[in-house]
Amino acid sequence: MTISYELGNSLYINLTNRCSNACEFCLRDGTGGSDSGWETSADLSGTEALWLKREPSVDEIIGDLQQRDLEGYDEVVFCGFGEPFMRFDECVAVAKWLKGRVKKIRVNTNGQANLIHGRDVTGEMAGLFDVVSISLNAKNAELYEAVCHSDFGEAAYDALLDFGQKCAEKGIETVFTVVDLLPEEDIRACEKIANSRGGKLRIRKYIS
Ligand code: SF4
Repeated sequence: MTISYELGNSLYINLTNRCSNACEFCLRDGTGGSDSGWETSADLSGTEALWLKREPSVDEIIGDLQQRDLEGYDEVVFCGFGEPFMRFDECVAVAKWLKGRVKKIRVNTNGQANLIHGRDVTGEMAGLFDVVSISLNAKNAELYEAVCHSDFGEAAYDALLDFGQKCAEKGIETVFTVVDLLPEEDIRACEKIANSRGGKLRIRKYIS
């Protein structure tokens, strides 16, 4: 079971396969490319290495992390295989344990945690997560839904923007991401949207 893996000088935590999206580019079914909810490593032999047969407990995640030289990493990232905030409470518990042991804590998310959990979770993130990276993917709700197929339909798009804004307002460095396959006009539109919500835009390389 791959709970954590290295990529560059970062350590990534994998705690669920589940997600509220079914993106056409998702690597979870082994057919797509990735934009971003998560990042993978060429060192991992295929995406099956990240597929969890069961979800690790908080104790198992911390036990795995205790085997690592945490101070040596630039950051620790809650990432895929699925959407980490499907297990929001577990992420918070692990982040609390990590705080003070690592230089930086980031989460890569689809930004739908407030819809998934039916409450505003951003207050619980403040002071724990240094950076939140949100997959924006598109310049409007219709285009987003066409590729991401959220459980929440087009409502997911406004929700992820609101989530990002609330994170930024709470002092969390907020980054919205798109892939470099988007037309330049769309990327510029996404940059304006990100900035209007207190975040910045990161253009990610599409992994085929
Ligand atoms: S948000 Fe990420 S994990 Fe979820 S379906 Fe999309 S690419 Fe896959």
